[in-house]
Order: sequence, then structure tokens, then C-alpha cells
Amino acid sequence: MAKKKKKIPTFLVGIWSLNIVGAVVFFLWIGNPFRSSPKIDAAVDAISATPTATLEIATLEIFALPTVYLLPSVTPNPKSTPIVGTTPTPFVLDLSKKQSIAIGYSVAGRPLEVYRFGTGPDERLIIAGIHGGNEWNTIALADELILYLEENPDIVPKDVSLYILRAMNPDGYERARGYEGRVNEHGVDLNHNFPYHWKEKWDRDGCWNYLPTTGGTHPGSEPETIAVMNFISLHDFSALISYHSAALGIFAGGVPPFEPSERLAKALADVSAYAYPPYNTGCDYSGNLTDWASSVKGVPAVDIELRNHRDTDYDDNISVLKAFLTWER
Ligand SMILES: [Zn+2]
Repeated sequence: MAKKKKKIPTFLVGIWSLNIVGAVVFFLWIGNPFRSSPKIDAAVDAISATPTATLEIATLEIFALPTVYLLPSVTPNPKSTPIVGTTPTPFVLDLSKKQSIAIGYSVAGRPLEVYRFGTGPDERLIIAGIHGGNEWNTIALADELILYLEENPDIVPKDVSLYILRAMNPDGYERARGYEGRVNEHGVDLNHNFPYHWKEKWDRDGCWNYLPTTGGTHPGSEPETIAVMNFISLHDFSALISYHSAALGIFAGGVPPFEPSERLAKALADVSAYAYPPYNTGCDYSGNLTDWASSVKGVPAVDIELRNHRDTDYDDNISVLKAFLTWER
């Protein structure tokens, strides 16, 4: 049976013709939609006519715009409790004002505050207070360093940005100045919670865990750990110091030892009274921050132990700060 040839209805042809005519008329009416805007043309002309010196200033201003942090770098506040010290816009750091950003929250909902100095692409990180109130003097030191940097911003080289997390375990810091302040609100030792050579329980001989604690229910189980892991993963840190107390010297991160971490440890020992290699008590440092940073993320990282649980060793650590900012640049 022969197929019947379908004829296109006349009304459809009419509608299509009207569409085509309409498009042509619209195109003529608005002009060429692919032309550049007069405002852009004017801006391009103005930039072309601008002397180089002015252009450099303009470039610097663009370079110094606030850093915008992506949401994944912030662990949510489990208590949603407003805490004094958070910034109104926690994801944007306004470099013109003294303020911190929260990179996450502790179990009890306290912000993990990070301060930034300098705007350069070479990023370096100092973390204090991972052992909370047991090592409260590391947090006191971080506050002194922040103050020193505010008064002496020029010690930060132009191509460097320094970040300081002043208290990684703020809950322990608020709980007690002593052994009871060492762990987070879940009773976890945060420096045993990182996902590298992690153990829930470890041999306590030669360690400082005088009270019951664990490495967490699993590697990276704690919000403080996750916040720091995210922050490090979202950045490209060329060096890291984690401050502790007390008395053993400087530890180079990495299992097996990470050679750049050993170089950093030597450089900082050279300008301070802290010993490298450190005094070995035989402690099992399972799941610790600097081993994870060195061996997993490739960041040269060291633990520095202050001399005791009372002093900030101010002069030594100003020297350490200056050496850290200029190390292998
Ligand atoms: Zn410690």
C-alpha cells in the first residue's frame, strides 16, 4: 500500500515565517548582540592609557582582596551557639581589620579561630593548643605571636601568607589548666585522631596521657580534626608548626621521617634553644597531626615543645617565627 504523503499545514508555515521575520526585526532593533559593551570598550581604553605605575597599584589592590573560603572548610557548629569571637561573615577575611575566621567548631560549639598575616601565595601555618588546657601556654604564645605580627607586619615577606590557629582544642582550654584539659569534649586526644598510623588505644609508656583517653571512634572522628584536615587540604602549605609543651625539643613529622620536615626542624633548632633531634621518651605517636601532614599531604611539618607548662619562651619563639617565615624561600 502506498504511503500517503503528508502535507505541512499552511498555518504552521505561516507561524514559522512570522517567527523568522520577528527574529530579523528584533536583531535589527537591538543591534548586534555580540558586540562588546560601550562600558567595556571605555574601560579597555582607559586601562591602555593608564601609566604602568598606576596599573601596579591597581594589581596590588586586586591581589589583596579578601580571601573567600569555600564552605567545606568549615565544620558545622553542633550546638549552633553564638560564641564571642566569631566574625559576622565567617567565610571572608577582611585583611584591613584585626579579625579571625572560624574554620570549624569544637564539639561544644566553640569556633576554631584562624588569623592571617600577609597576602602572598606561599602559605604557612602555625597551630597551637591541640592539647587544650594541658598545654595552655601554647595558646598564650599564639596570642603573643598574633600581637607581635600586628605590630610588626613587615616581618611577613611579600610573597608569604601566615595563618595562625590559636586554639585547636578550645573546649579543653576552657575546661581546665592541667591534665583534665588535654582532651576534647568527647574525651579524645586530638593529636591521636588523624588518619595516619591511627590507633584507638596506644601504649602509654613515655606519653603524657595520665587520664583515660582514646584516639577517637575512628580516624578523623572529631570535628576539630576534620576542620584542620579540610583547612590544610584546601590550602597549599609549604610549612607547618604544631606547638606543644613541654621540654622535649622539636619533632620532625612523617613516618618514615619526611626529609623536608627534618630540614625545617634543623632550621628552627638553629635559631632557638629547642633541641633537634628531640628527647625520645619512647611514646607511640599514633594518628598525630604532623605525621599526617608530612606523609599524607606532603607538608613539611614539625612539633615544637615549649620548655615547660608555664612560659611562652617569647624570645625563642620570635626567632622561630622569623626563621619560619623565611625558611627555604
Ligand atoms: Zn601536646
